[in-house]
Amino acid sequence: MDTRRNMLKKKRRVVIKIGSSSLQHTETGDMDYIRLEVLVRELCNLKNQGKDVVLVSSGAIAQGKKAVHLTPEQLQEHPIAVKQACAAVGQGKLMMIYEKLFNEYGQLTAQVLLTKESVTNAKCRKNAKQTFDELFKMQVVPIVNENDAISVDELSYGNFGDNDTLAAYVSRLVDADLLILMSDIDGLYTDDPRKNPNARFIHTVGKIGRSLENMAKGASSDCGTGGMATKIKAAKIATAAGADMIIANGDNIYSINDVMNGKKVGTLFLSEQHQKEMSEEVAPERAEFR
Ligand code: GLU
Repeated sequence: MDTRRNMLKKKRRVVIKIGSSSLQHTETGDMDYIRLEVLVRELCNLKNQGKDVVLVSSGAIAQGKKAVHLTPEQLQEHPIAVKQACAAVGQGKLMMIYEKLFNEYGQLTAQVLLTKESVTNAKCRKNAKQTFDELFKMQVVPIVNENDAISVDELSYGNFGDNDTLAAYVSRLVDADLLILMSDIDGLYTDDPRKNPNARFIHTVGKIGRSLENMAKGASSDCGTGGMATKIKAAKIATAAGADMIIANGDNIYSINDVMNGKKVGTLFLSEQHQKEMSEEVAPERAEFR
């Protein structure tokens, strides 16, 4: 058994990010209730093992668009404002489903909507952190999304841009020891596997060097707003803050359980702390392509 994978079993505080594309049927854009149900069951199971769990979920804009039967013309007129309004509609719908499903397993949830200011401004960060701390004490599962209704580029505090980055900041904020990004791809490849049949899968990443960042620019992912480059950016934030990070395929929600059981699924990015601990065993430069 790979020791680096085995140590994932001991993680105490886990942030799991799921993208819009993993929550809906591709053909219709409607919610995939089976996948949502499995996701919630997996998370409740982690709670039952005594772990703290945070879910970072996208899907507000996508569900809002469906609900208001948005026309392309409406979107063309005021693209940002319409998206904000759709997020306000969709976020409520999303939470309603999550609350219902978590409730079936006797689990309480809380909605936490963040802006970039929540993590960059020291006062807001302190306030946000104390909310998370109390929620953990109350055994509640925080469900986080960006506060899209007020968080746009035009406003002075800016936005995260995508939920991969948001999830990495949340990991740092709550001192998580593991971040799992459920993506639309199995993990990191040396090139885009949909275009290059010789692309190799990367199981473990040590130090995130320039070569890896350049490679990620080529190996794009279609999901949500975050391609592979945003996942590398997220990995840099999370691993520097002391969390290991995994990219796994959201098509198979059961891979959360596999990851937590130390199975070799997805790409594992070692936290800076673990890179140091492992450096005697595997030099970081060599660990980059394994
Ligand atoms: N916050 C957006 C939503 O919930 C999604 C952003 C993203 O997927 O990166 O719809």
